[in-house]
Amino acid sequence: MTLKEAEEFTSSCRWQYAKTYPSAPHEYTCLAWNPSAKRQMVDFAYLIRDAGYTERFGNSDYRVLVIDGMKYWTMDEPLENTDLINRTYADDVKRKQIADYIQSDTGFEYKDGMSLAAIECQMMMTEFRAYVSRFDWRVAKTFEDFSPHQYILNFPCWKMKKDDKCKGEGEACVECKERRSEFEKWVLFIRKYGERCKMLKTVYTVLCVDGRQYWTMGDPLETTWVLNRALIDEPRRVPKLEWLDRE
Ligand SMILES: [Zn+2]
Repeated sequence: MTLKEAEEFTSSCRWQYAKTYPSAPHEYTCLAWNPSAKRQMVDFAYLIRDAGYTERFGNSDYRVLVIDGMKYWTMDEPLENTDLINRTYADDVKRKQIADYIQSDTGFEYKDGMSLAAIECQMMMTEFRAYVSRFDWRVAKTFEDFSPHQYILNFPCWKMKKDDKCKGEGEACVECKERRSEFEKWVLFIRKYGERCKMLKTVYTVLCVDGRQYWTMGDPLETTWVLNRALIDEPRRVPKLEWLDRE
């Protein structure tokens, strides 16, 4: 198995948080959920052994392999018997954050079958609510009667300078940079955890929170300047919304 094939394989698997280890949060996928993936699972275990490295955890050594920010390992010997794969965030800071969140008395809400990503989303949602509540949202003039919504703007420093709205020094001043990176973090959050919603002929990735849907446009990320929101059940909206990821 090549790394590329491994990437395809792991992204095709269903991952579930292992709730018995809140201090070392990880998730797993097992053969029982997809028996036809037996060969791939075993090949992946070999790949971890051959392309990975050894890491000490507790009193044991494990062979681990990092792909796309996730660290993978298996426990079965011989590898031919592999029927379960574990993974967690390779980033120690992120893993610690998740562990703290899970073990905190307030906040974490366990749901059956949830993934690590779902936990991360839940953890970040509190922060997201705080972020969006900081702004005075403007009412959009475009599609005002047709599809009413609100927006906030965020420009990179160079554009702020061009429009004479930034007096900062240098290529990108600290203040603009921080504001921008915070904005981009939430744009990516919406794109990662949002769902596909079709309006007329366009498919948007929207995140539904507290009765509102949030979405952004602009690819690449640097050209995303607008964060939009609308009521999910906006009575004045004319076109019907089609939720593509729902049953
Ligand atoms: Zn600036």
